Amino acid sequence: MDSKEVIIRICDLNPHVVCSLCAGYFVDATTITECLHTFCKSCIVKYFQTSKKCPMCNLQIHETQPLFNLRLDRTMQDIVAKVVPGILEAEEKRRREFYASRGMAVEKPAQDENENEKPTRETSVKRDYSETKNLYRDDEQVSLCVERYEDGLEENEEETDNNGPATTVGTLSKKYIRCSARMMVVQLQKLLRMKLNIPNEKEVEIVCNEHVIHPFRTMKFIWISEWLGKAPPMVLHYRVHDIS
Ligand SMILES: [Zn+2]
Ligand SMILES: [Zn+2]
Repeated sequence: MDSKEVIIRICDLNPHVVCSLCAGYFVDATTITECLHTFCKSCIVKYFQTSKKCPMCNLQIHETQPLFNLRLDRTMQDIVAKVVPGILEAEEKRRREFYASRGMAVEKPAQDENENEKPTRETSVKRDYSETKNLYRDDEQVSLCVERYEDGLEENEEETDNNGPATTVGTLSKKYIRCSARMMVVQLQKLLRMKLNIPNEKEVEIVCNEHVIHPFRTMKFIWISEWLGKAPPMVLHYRVHDIS
């Protein structure tokens, strides 16, 4: 076995990639923005016809417009595709058969949607389903929890001084962030600088799983390399140093 290979048992992964409503792997994985629980798009849309609470945690969802709180979760769908080879092909075949049996055109799978195309009946439905006027609306999304790095040692260890002492910084008022999977660490660093008033002579470092992440890594890259198989949100820490 290649030493870099990591063996993950599918039964450990299943709770994170299986829809609790249909017990199948996510199809068009869709996440409730308020509690970050994920379901198949069709399962949760149907569920909301009779209840306005999250089926997993009972959280009250938007009472009149529950679909407002749903987002397609492409990162989760990519993870499903990675852990369950063939699922997308099987789903594509099932769609074709479904539409063919009704003499309808094939609905495009969510990941192939093209912004510039003339809206079809299906894409208009989709526009109703996601009502926010957000440019990144159709982007693959990731859920983050961004917290201040605290390792307890830095306060006591005086000898870290020559590396530039860790600087005390504030905490974000909203630590749960939902953003495009294409967002890069450098953009998160900028956001932190702005929100926490961090001056330019300080360096902001982003840490995930005790690894310092390169500024040009995307959130998707970090998710795949550090967070695969773990439940959202992905926890990122920030720490601030004097530039030495
Ligand atoms: Zn489902
Ligand atoms: Zn929930």
